Amino acid sequence: MSTTGLTQSQIDIREGVQKICAQFPDEYWAEKDSKGEYAGDLHPELAKAGYIGICMPQEYGGADLGISEAAIMMATIAESGAGIAGCQTVHANVYATIPLLKFCTRSQQARFLPPLISGEERTCFGVTEPDSGLDTLRLSTRAERVGAVYRVSGQKIWITNAQASSRMVLLARTSPLDSQAQSDSKSSSKGLTLLYADIARGKREGSVEVRPIEKMGGRSVDANQVFFDNFEVPVSDRVGDEGDGFKIILHGMKYVPSLPSSYHIHPLTQIQNSAERILLSAESLGLGYAALKRASSYASTRVVFGRPIGQNQGIQHPLARSWCELEAARALVLGVARRFDELVGVTSSSSSPSVQTKRKPTKEELIELGASCNAAKYVAAEAAFRACEQAVMTLGGMGYAKEYHVERYLRESFVPRIAPVSREMILNFIGQKVLGCTYYRIS
Ligand SMILES: Cc1cc2nc3c(=O)[nH]c(=O)nc-3n(C[C@H](O)[C@H](O)[C@H](O)COP(=O)(O)OP(=O)(O)OC[C@H]3O[C@@H](n4cnc5c(N)ncnc54)[C@H](O)[C@@H]3O)c2cc1C
Repeated sequence: MSTTGLTQSQIDIREGVQKICAQFPDEYWAEKDSKGEYAGDLHPELAKAGYIGICMPQEYGGADLGISEAAIMMATIAESGAGIAGCQTVHANVYATIPLLKFCTRSQQARFLPPLISGEERTCFGVTEPDSGLDTLRLSTRAERVGAVYRVSGQKIWITNAQASSRMVLLARTSPLDSQAQSDSKSSSKGLTLLYADIARGKREGSVEVRPIEKMGGRSVDANQVFFDNFEVPVSDRVGDEGDGFKIILHGMKYVPSLPSSYHIHPLTQIQNSAERILLSAESLGLGYAALKRASSYASTRVVFGRPIGQNQGIQHPLARSWCELEAARALVLGVARRFDELVGVTSSSSSPSVQTKRKPTKEELIELGASCNAAKYVAAEAAFRACEQAVMTLGGMGYAKEYHVERYLRESFVPRIAPVSREMILNFIGQKVLGCTYYRIS
């Protein structure tokens, strides 16, 4: 990936992260993937060098930079050969800290943030449930308040890193989703509460059970079913007010559209955290460029019919098209990240070179930002997928062999198309919020 348009400090970040990632070449990730072994070595190295707290305030050990810099870091990690799996070993620790920073009290921040930034603790992000899927407002994991604790019972699914994490940013229901609430967007979104749960204790005590899911790619990082059985979370570990959990995870979007009560908040508003969208877009870019590099290098050296296959335009053009698509996505992702830093920012004092002013953004600006974050995620994920697919085809039979890594990249390129929000839901969002197609109405 080129450094065109990056500031000197962003180039420095890229070079610093490249140096760390050089300790973990493609072979490291391929071996971990093949054995299904957790690749936990990158996270402590990044933490030691101060990169996990890239967006966090300096007073807690962070670097106080913006999401632009975090995006460059994540793209660089993916491009090193670590791919999406490598990024997944760290990325919740970068974006899931944002709600903690924005909504925790200062004493909670002082408890929660330093161990995450130093790498002493790791967190995962627990939203998805088997029965509600993308329709987050229907989630049913209960957190019942009993005195000074919440008792959590229920199930999450697809929770990345739950084995290695000691904490979970956990969205649970504190008031039941009754039939009236189902038709009232305000009531259904009000019933959810965000907890910063000490799952390490739950795992030790037996009230939290984590079961890995066998999956297609990214086998060097776990994704899990997580079961809670009367798991106690102190009220002092609640993030923000009871009932505000949904608003908090939407915070990156900074608005929940005010709809007439006859309208249901369609799953399209389950647009968790635009900071996460930006990071996933950047990871997709890194993966796409890594695939393209392998493919073009193979095309230049593989000789068939007496000449390098890359001399055939049938091989050249799809690779060139992928480069154009990745470049377009790169411009969009970096532009959106800069806009996020200007309008929303992670910390109020952020020293990100892209942060110019701090004024209250208008609702229209935030809606545009939300749409752009989603567009960036869509475009980057699709560009990365096509680059990986083309890389496999360029290598022919060897594209299918593990030795050349592109099959691993292709398997991982599905993840940003599905999570944290699928491409269909992004298109729903654009169709309805940008193009003005009608809201979905419950019959
Ligand atoms: C590798 C991996 C890691 C993950 N890590 C995490 C994590 O750490 N934490 C976490 O909380 N979650 C995580 N997820 C979950 C992820 O966010 C969800 O898989 C994703 O949000 C999709 O939800 P679902 O799988 O339940 O799909 P469903 O909601 O069941 O949807 C299935 C399909 O139907 C489509 N669909 C549904 N409704 C509509 C509609 N109205 N219009 C058009 N199409 C529609 C969807 O686009 C999708 O293609 C992860 C998933 C994967 C695969």
